[in-house]
Amino acid sequence: MARRPLLAARALILRCPHCGGTGLFRHWWAMRETCPTCGLSLAAGNRVGANLLNLVAAEFLLMAFLAAVIVCGWPTPPWSTLEWAAPLLMLIAPLVLYPVSKLLFVAFDLMLHPDAAPDAVAHGISADSSR
Ligand SMILES: [Zn+2]
Repeated sequence: MARRPLLAARALILRCPHCGGTGLFRHWWAMRETCPTCGLSLAAGNRVGANLLNLVAAEFLLMAFLAAVIVCGWPTPPWSTLEWAAPLLMLIAPLVLYPVSKLLFVAFDLMLHPDAAPDAVAHGISADSSR
């Protein structure tokens, strides 16, 4: 698999985009600072971009949901259902998409900086000591 699709695919299944390692999250909303397998920094410099990506993905999901419900229900879309379902989706979607957007942004960073060494390697620290 080519490098860029591989990086994105690993992020989408919640694995380290760089090495494919697991254990990147303490729980759904708390990502470790570094990958336990390769030492890649997962936090530094990507918080704003990842949060922006999360918000944009949630907005696109809402628009797709609204368009599908309105088109499928035309000529009498269920407006009363949409009045509570759309705000509920806007509350839930960013929470559900949070880990995926964080790792996708790390993958995008690796796509733009393919020669960047993992922080543990760059600083001469073994991957075992970064846990
Ligand atoms: Zn890794």
